[in-house]
Amino acid sequence: MKYIPVIKLQEKVDERVQVRGWLHHVRRQGRLIFLVIRDPTGYVQAVVKPKSVGDTAFKVAEKLTRETAITAEGTVKEDDRAPYIGIELQITAINPVINYASPELEYEIRPDSGPQVLLDKRHLVLRGEQASDIMRFRDHLTRSFRDFFYSRDFVEVTPSTIVQTQVEGGSTLFAFKYFDHDAYLTQSSQLYLETVLASLGNVFCVLPSFRAEKSRTRRHLTEYTHIEAEMPWYEFEDLLEFMEDMIISVYTKAKENPILKKFNPTMEVPSKPFEQVTYEQSIRHLREYGIKGESGKYLEYGDDITEGPERALVDKIGSPTFLTHFPTGMKPFYMKLNTENPEVMNAADLLIPNVGEIIGGSQREDDLETLLQRMREEGLDTKPYYWYIDQRKYGTVPHSGFGLGLERLVQGLLNLDHIRDACLYPRLINRATP
Ligand code: ATP
Ligand code: MG
Repeated sequence: MKYIPVIKLQEKVDERVQVRGWLHHVRRQGRLIFLVIRDPTGYVQAVVKPKSVGDTAFKVAEKLTRETAITAEGTVKEDDRAPYIGIELQITAINPVINYASPELEYEIRPDSGPQVLLDKRHLVLRGEQASDIMRFRDHLTRSFRDFFYSRDFVEVTPSTIVQTQVEGGSTLFAFKYFDHDAYLTQSSQLYLETVLASLGNVFCVLPSFRAEKSRTRRHLTEYTHIEAEMPWYEFEDLLEFMEDMIISVYTKAKENPILKKFNPTMEVPSKPFEQVTYEQSIRHLREYGIKGESGKYLEYGDDITEGPERALVDKIGSPTFLTHFPTGMKPFYMKLNTENPEVMNAADLLIPNVGEIIGGSQREDDLETLLQRMREEGLDTKPYYWYIDQRKYGTVPHSGFGLGLERLVQGLLNLDHIRDACLYPRLINRATP
């Protein structure tokens, strides 16, 4: 390899090497030019001195701007004062590649730029340290989930995201014309995952889900990455234990990640069993803790626990917490009614500090008659769901599953204020660009 990746420079001290990358920073200091060169593996400081490169090359270097792509040759020197990796590359030759980056960039993105400017310039913001750290960490998390699923012999599938059924209620559906028919962008792939339990066993998917969210909150996107899993023979308790094991596995790996250490140095890996609060208890707790709903009043049994109070509750508890046994009717038709008390459902959301809900899970209704009854109660036309209903006619078994919003977990683990920073190109109520 002719070009040495930045991350390998520490192994090349006092050697002459060639590197290539982009100029992350450019700074003049008297007769010296300090550069920070970025490649996909890291950042390294470089210095250009007139006497090491000669007058012509120094003139070239004087015109360098931030984000210009370059190839350079230099000697690797150990230097404790150098930021990033304690290395300074003493440049002996330098070539801007193809073009100089426009100097306007300096004025376009500044530390005090507002969120709308930063979102308009997202394609350039993504070159920054913080945004690229977040994207790398997100990749790390996705891998950890896949590793965990594979360690439990799950099969990954990719159901279509173009559907003709709703999963989470009509108010957040994105509808469009599919040739001569009406169709929607999927809100969840759960129903399709359930259809392969009888052949593939435990299954998962990592796919976008779409929600036409009309309220602006710091944790709602209109398109997000949904990690969903369904497991045959799992009853409610099995589901809770599975989610605990998965979260512990993912958090344990995350804690080793240097990016997490940078963003959230005090993060703790939770231990089993997680805190559990039933919906009914949570309504009481909210009152005890003085946490009111958005209307300024205390929530009553039967009220939806919205983002604000939900987050305040879990912040107060201070560790991942299952919120369980919601009143029947508060959650969708496919969640199983509790056999001892059919007034509540075998459902559990996992809440984490700083975000609130990151997982919605439940045992699924496996009884044909109850399922049809629940669909009627919700005013759903059962016809488009014939394939889902068929699962209850041909060898129905107890089963459970869940959906986790990847961006919400990134937001929670990295202590981000807003979920928009957890995705490459966020889709929000007022934004689908770039
Ligand atoms: P919320 O009450 O916050 O709107 P939800 O109950 O609608 O969440 P579910 O339908 O249970 O959420 O979806 C499963 C998971 O998908 C959630 O726990 C969350 O992590 C994620 N999720 C849901 N809606 C969004 C969204 N609009 N943006 C980002 N993630 C979402
Ligand atoms: Mg919602």
